[in-house]
Amino acid sequence: MAFGLAGEVDDGDDHGDATAGLPETERFSSAHVVAATRTTTAATATAIHRPDLRQDLEDTSESYFRRPSGDATLLPVHFAWEQLTDSVHRCRLPFCDVTIGVVQGRTGTLLVDTGTTLAEAAAIDHDVRQIAGGPVTHVVLSHKHFDHVLGSSLFAEADIYCAPEVVEYLSSATDQIRDDALHYGADAAEIDRAIAALRPPQRATYHACYQAVVDLGNRAATITHPGRGHTTSDLIVVVPGPDDDDSPLVVFTGDLVEESADPAIDADSDIAAWPATLDRILAIGGPDALYVPGHGKVVDAGFIRRQRDWLKSFGSGR
Ligand SMILES: [Zn+2]
Repeated sequence: MAFGLAGEVDDGDDHGDATAGLPETERFSSAHVVAATRTTTAATATAIHRPDLRQDLEDTSESYFRRPSGDATLLPVHFAWEQLTDSVHRCRLPFCDVTIGVVQGRTGTLLVDTGTTLAEAAAIDHDVRQIAGGPVTHVVLSHKHFDHVLGSSLFAEADIYCAPEVVEYLSSATDQIRDDALHYGADAAEIDRAIAALRPPQRATYHACYQAVVDLGNRAATITHPGRGHTTSDLIVVVPGPDDDDSPLVVFTGDLVEESADPAIDADSDIAAWPATLDRILAIGGPDALYVPGHGKVVDAGFIRRQRDWLKSFGSGR
């Protein structure tokens, strides 16, 4: 179920394969190097420029959110949030259709990926406070690409988990990050501002790791690196329901799985290893998990199997 009353609203019923019934050749028609088909609507996400972001944001909300276990009050939010379980939400950001996820626990709130700009991250921060009733306490960066990481500096008070390669990339490859962001239509001034705010090696709150468990009080989220694929160091986030709750497992896959475009392949991708990595994700999540791709609608295990098979075929040159 989605809570947006205006703007873009996902009906929330599309947890299955949106392309079911289509021949594979129609769904995964070709490999788009660096996902050239991704939708880019930069204006929507980067319309906030004034320094007092949170003050400004109060006047720019386009949707409303009602807490599942709260009263009937409608809370203004900036994005159309999709509820996956009682306390797990995600939304598809207008810019690049990138997913961010929110996992709420009794003692903390975990954010999966952080958006592209500080303005976008400020809007996310605002919305998370509305959804969870408090700030983001933990952040996972699924991988190093600009659309997932450049908002991270805004969450200065949170513990940030990412692969060591991400810390290295944010430290040493800002020219590449900037080029990628501008290639996809991001606002140059916003990107420069986000890059200038990056100070990962000096940040005591960065946890460079391939495996971690984040304790959120009444639940824990597991971060793991299932293998090489989209990049050398993608992390996934596995989220069971809270204690004494039979909610379905939610698996945030980052860009190891994409629904709204073909898998994004670049020089850092490992096509040969990628299918086995998807098999590991399927082994972790099982047949009934809700798999949340880095871009696109929530999918099921069958969709991931088809993406695995397509990658195998692509890797074998067929
Ligand atoms: Zn990516």
